[in-house]
Amino acid sequence: MLDKIAQIKDSAIRQIESCSDIDQLNQLKVKYLGRKGELTDILRSIGKLSAQERPAVGKLAGEVKALISQRLQEIFSSLEAKQQSPQEFFDITMPGRRPSVGKKHPLTQLIDEIVKIFHGMGFSVAEGPDVETEYYNFDALNTPADHPSRDIQDTFYLENGELLRTHTSPVQIRVMEKQRPPVRIIAPGKCYRRDTPDATHSPNFHHVEGLYVDTDVTMADLKGTLVVFAQQLLGKEVRVRFRPHFFPFTEPSVEWDFSCTACGGKGCNLCKGTGWIEISGAGMVDPAVFEAVGYDSEKYSGYAFGMGVERIAMVKYGINDIRLFYENDLRFIQQF
Ligand SMILES: [Zn+2]
Repeated sequence: MLDKIAQIKDSAIRQIESCSDIDQLNQLKVKYLGRKGELTDILRSIGKLSAQERPAVGKLAGEVKALISQRLQEIFSSLEAKQQSPQEFFDITMPGRRPSVGKKHPLTQLIDEIVKIFHGMGFSVAEGPDVETEYYNFDALNTPADHPSRDIQDTFYLENGELLRTHTSPVQIRVMEKQRPPVRIIAPGKCYRRDTPDATHSPNFHHVEGLYVDTDVTMADLKGTLVVFAQQLLGKEVRVRFRPHFFPFTEPSVEWDFSCTACGGKGCNLCKGTGWIEISGAGMVDPAVFEAVGYDSEKYSGYAFGMGVERIAMVKYGINDIRLFYENDLRFIQQF
């Protein structure tokens, strides 16, 4: 019996030590120490032995069992360590993972730039609510009740009779109600119109509005301001032109254009061959608007102008589809 135990010990240790695989090692554990294992059989049959044999066999079998479990445990540990080591391998030369840093949307960047240029000319920024009343959006701006821009086809009216502002001009009224001249502000912000989205229209867009009121303000001041603005934004060679137009809140009114920066005014796809890019409207503040805010139109004069931020961004960056600004495709946005 003792010889058999010694044999089991030798073969078990030999097999365990030459084992290089965890599954195989588990099989060996079952073979030697399992419920039907060779050593377990012997331990179970000790009761049947004579009283003289029993202590020596019991002692040796116990010792061998302990030894086998110890070697199994050691080999298990070393195999596990080997298996994990590729993941724990640490390459100190590998470049680190940089967090991706966010930045401002291209339209926000452009608004910041526009604001900075007007700051330099003494304008301060004024803001107003996106949800406006008909009074501030139309009535105070001398827009008659039957004017087409007030139509529900063009304006988003809310259930309570208020509306989403169609331009940032209501901010002019709100500022003039609170402040006596001189007033020199620009009002950047979101505007809303019921336009069907396409390459050049969006129901939500951004405007920057400007207003200057003082004594002896003239149309020449307006043009000079817009020329300085255009040249600071797009370069010294840019020219500005006025075309006669009509707006309810200015008199006289003009539309103002930049000379096309893509072709230098010769005519190209961007300017549809005209050499000019339409920016927006401007003009001298209508006396009726001054009346609405309690300014003396005999004493004060002023100019106002607007500009579409998306429009300028499309010209400045040569973009032909306004929808790109709202899709938030990182491949587009990250170029700015
Ligand atoms: Zn052009």
